[in-house]
Amino acid sequence: MKKIEINEEFDIEMKRFYLPISIKRECSKCGNICEHDLSINYLSYPTINKNNELYFYCDNCDNEFTINSVLRISLDVEDEK
Ligand SMILES: [Zn+2]
Repeated sequence: MKKIEINEEFDIEMKRFYLPISIKRECSKCGNICEHDLSINYLSYPTINKNNELYFYCDNCDNEFTINSVLRISLDVEDEK
């Protein structure tokens, strides 16, 4: 298999792009563990290779914060025979 990496920015025309992962971060104000579950809180029309801010809300102290993330895609193609 040959891996083709795509480096330019492009949009995925998908309203709800779910991923089977969950990101946890400590609240900067109170230290509570906050979660952004991408299997529920989908990316909406994400742009590949560009910053997508992930939103967090702390239900302990009402703090809101974001972290940066970049969605990347590669394609593995079968070798020539
Ligand atoms: Zn907090």
